[in-house]
Amino acid sequence: MGKTVLAIGGHIGDMDLTAGPTLAKMVLAGDRAIILACTYGERGHPRLSPEEYRVQKVREGEQFAADIGAEFRVLDYSDGFLPDNDEAATQIADIIRTEKPDLIITHWTKSIHRDHERAASLAERARFLASLPLDSPLGRHSVRQVLHADNWEDAEGFVPDLYVSIPDEAFERWRAAIQKQAFARGETYGFRYIDYYTAMMTAKGCLAGTTRACGFAVGGGPHFPLAEL
Ligand SMILES: [Zn+2]
Repeated sequence: MGKTVLAIGGHIGDMDLTAGPTLAKMVLAGDRAIILACTYGERGHPRLSPEEYRVQKVREGEQFAADIGAEFRVLDYSDGFLPDNDEAATQIADIIRTEKPDLIITHWTKSIHRDHERAASLAERARFLASLPLDSPLGRHSVRQVLHADNWEDAEGFVPDLYVSIPDEAFERWRAAIQKQAFARGETYGFRYIDYYTAMMTAKGCLAGTTRACGFAVGGGPHFPLAEL
C-alpha cells in the first residue's frame, strides 16, 4: 500500500514550489499527497485586492494539486495573521487523525515570514496532539517523519541532510503545474521562483549524484531511507 504525505505550508503556493517535485514523484509512485495551506496568501499581490487575489490563490492551489495528482486544503486564516495556538494546531491534528499521513513536509523553523515559522510550529504541535490519546472520535495517529523543505525565504540555519532525487517525469509535471501560479511566474513581486527552484534542483542533483534532487532537513524520529521516497 502506498504512503500518504501531508505538506503543510504557510501560504497557498509555498509547498507547491518547495515540496511539489517530491509530491509529484510520490504520486507517480502510487502514493497519496495532500497539500494544506494554513492561510490563503491573499496579500501577496501588488495590484489585486486581497479579496480578488484570495479567489485566484484558491483556484491556483486547486489547479496545481489536480495537475500533480494531489489533494488541496486550505485553513480559513488570513495572510500575515496565522495564529500559533492550539485551535489552529487542533484543526491540523484532526486532518492528521483522519488522513493518517506517514510523512509530513513543512517549512523550516526559521523564516523571514512569520506565517512560515508558525506553519512549521503548528505542524509539530499538531503531530504531537494527533498522537495523544485524547477523547477524539477520529482516534489517534503518530506520524513517522517530518521533513523541512528547502525555501529561499526560510534559509536561516537550514542545512539539508536528505536528498530526494527527482525523475524527469516528476520534474516536468511539477514545472507545467507551477507555471499556472502568478507569483511563481514572477508576476507579483518579480522574484524568479521557477528559475530559482529549477536551478536549485540541478545544484542539489550535482551533490546527490543524480540529474535533479530536492534537499530536506530531517525532523525528529527515524529517517526514511532515500530509496523509499
Ligand atoms: Zn509563503
